[in-house]
Amino acid sequence: MNGTAIHITGIVQGVGFRPWVWKTATRLGLAGTVRNNFDGVHIELFGDPSLFLQALEADPPPLSKIDSIRTEEIEFQPLTGFQILESDAAGEALQRISPDIALCDDCRRELFDSSDRRHHYPFINCVNCGPRFSIIENMPYDRSKTSMRAFEMCAACRTEYTDPNNRRYHAQPIACPDCGPRMDPANWESAWRNAMQQGKIVAIKGIGGFHLACDALNPVAVSNLRKRKGREAKPFALMVPDLEWIKTVCDVSVDEAKLLLSRERPIVLLKLRDGQTRMSAPHVGQAFQPALRKMIAPGLNTLGVMLPYSPMHEIMFDLFPHPVVMTSANHSAEPMIHTNAAARTKLGNIADVFLMHNRDIVNRCDDSVCSALGVLRPGRGVAPVSMPVNTDRCILAFGADMKNTFALAHHGQVTLHPYIGDLEHPEAQQILEQSIERELACFKVAPELVVHDLHPDYFSTRIAQSFAERRGLPTLGIQHHHAHLVGAHPGKAIGFAFDGTGYGSDGTIWGGEVMLYDAGGFERKFNLRPFALPGGDAAVKDPKRILESLLYQTCATKLEASSTLRQLESGINCPMTSSMGRLFDAVSVLLGVCERPTYDGEAAMRLEAIADESECGDLAFEIAAGEIDWRPLILDLLDELEKGIPASILAARFHNTLAEIVYCCGKRLAAIHGNLPWVFAGGVFQNRLLVERIKRVVDGEFELVFSTYPNDSGIPLGQTMIGARQWASK
Ligand code: ZN
Ligand code: ZN
Ligand code: FE
Repeated sequence: MNGTAIHITGIVQGVGFRPWVWKTATRLGLAGTVRNNFDGVHIELFGDPSLFLQALEADPPPLSKIDSIRTEEIEFQPLTGFQILESDAAGEALQRISPDIALCDDCRRELFDSSDRRHHYPFINCVNCGPRFSIIENMPYDRSKTSMRAFEMCAACRTEYTDPNNRRYHAQPIACPDCGPRMDPANWESAWRNAMQQGKIVAIKGIGGFHLACDALNPVAVSNLRKRKGREAKPFALMVPDLEWIKTVCDVSVDEAKLLLSRERPIVLLKLRDGQTRMSAPHVGQAFQPALRKMIAPGLNTLGVMLPYSPMHEIMFDLFPHPVVMTSANHSAEPMIHTNAAARTKLGNIADVFLMHNRDIVNRCDDSVCSALGVLRPGRGVAPVSMPVNTDRCILAFGADMKNTFALAHHGQVTLHPYIGDLEHPEAQQILEQSIERELACFKVAPELVVHDLHPDYFSTRIAQSFAERRGLPTLGIQHHHAHLVGAHPGKAIGFAFDGTGYGSDGTIWGGEVMLYDAGGFERKFNLRPFALPGGDAAVKDPKRILESLLYQTCATKLEASSTLRQLESGINCPMTSSMGRLFDAVSVLLGVCERPTYDGEAAMRLEAIADESECGDLAFEIAAGEIDWRPLILDLLDELEKGIPASILAARFHNTLAEIVYCCGKRLAAIHGNLPWVFAGGVFQNRLLVERIKRVVDGEFELVFSTYPNDSGIPLGQTMIGARQWASK
């Protein structure tokens, strides 16, 4: 009998792969070795490998994702037993940082087993679950390089940690009540229950940062939280006891249920049921009445919901089985608070009760937000996320200013870092710079190219340029919407980039663009007819100005005298834009849906929410000389409003019309350039009604690709791919 060498690639490191191999080989009585290397896991087996290979296909380690298995016959070696070998240095350089992982079923069982030594221990974890990214200071991933190094393992934990047969073998954050992190106050369980019963607001230190929580069924508590946080209408996410509860208030598809229960445990945006909640459910779902819904997600038809993901959350719901508001602890849109000291100084006037612990959060990480459409915020559990990229160079991409994050490519993989925040906050800028330095140090790599947005005044651009200058690196500015599209699909395609704002190659603000593109470049084939933004950013905050600007081009004679009109006439501080997001804002004002948005995207989200989905009509538009003319559409809306057609019907017609516009543009390009995929990216494609209408109109005639990361958090991926391509062509 000869030996067998097995080489496995994919996500196979830092996921308990080697102990799995050890256990399986030992069970089958096979001798040999297993080792991590830069290109995956290498196994040498001596004996009949067939049962082992079967097990590998049928029942691999739960966190692994195998891309390929290659076997090869090798010379027999008379080994006795099976051995786990240490990884070599090259192997370590390629390890990826795992995201944090939700509590696994085995640990949950122990958590609620009164005979287990970790009964009700809020920091229980194993090799298949627990904190990762949020506690890692450096690589390779080892307890001494995480914030768990402050806790010395007790004898019992050490025995588990060193036993390849134990499910906590090499579980770096292993802990127990004797040796691990502790809650402050120690009687936190009763503090939590009392606070919830009394309608108080609690600051809780979780996995990626602090949350503010209150009973979601208590209107006084929810309104207090809004007042104290200064958060007027932006929706709150809920954490709820179980999937059943969610089904009583929201429509949940099979895929959405999977997403909710996945080990990433994101906040999932779900469609709220109309009217009454389903009465068959015997419990708390019924208490979630329309009035309360309005306080959680004012004016919207969706609700952001997540299931408990840490052992602490499981205990919280065991004690108090109501849904709770669970929102990042910060003031307005500042980065999430993650240290005990900052929580005490900054949350004193918001929270009544503090529940903390003494495990440091090294890398803060907001909860991820997903929907059936994709990842709207790649945070805790989802990111860091890696994918293959067509370059071996080290490229660093700085993203955009809104929903900023960055991407780092090296050794043929690009890793998207978790969502950082909006860079207008100086603290977010600091986090961007620190996170980049940490990641470069972790992987001991040096960027060879810096890519950034084309916008000269973006904070991200300036930070990228000064970074490049300090290190003497070449830089590349990349057009925002090109990056959106390439991030969604790098090959040649017809791209629809419908977005809020992005700097165009001509110096105006783009955002309603139809492009023929690939990673090497783009041609702007159609765009929304440009209009002025009177006052620039001021118009974004006060979209009545945008509407006046549209009316100015459509039927100026009907406009009443106003300061905006004078501004439009003078043209002073009236930057031009072709932004689809801004068109949404203006229509929302015109239909009386949202005149004064209090957060980014509110006007468009409310417009989507009121649309009557049974309405199939549409509005007039024109496409000529590469321009999508919205003026007939505005005239149509004015007419219909005058006739008394309700806003819900007109909102639906607006969406239907945009789908028609997409079809029209795509069809014209397909006639010339052939059967290419149609790719959709940009913040506007977070709109599920629009996506659904586009699918309906195109009806399988063309291949449609919707971006996994529709908003600006996907920008750094596209930037990296364009950077890689430009480099290759030099
Ligand atoms: Zn576990
Ligand atoms: Zn212990
Ligand atoms: Fe964008």
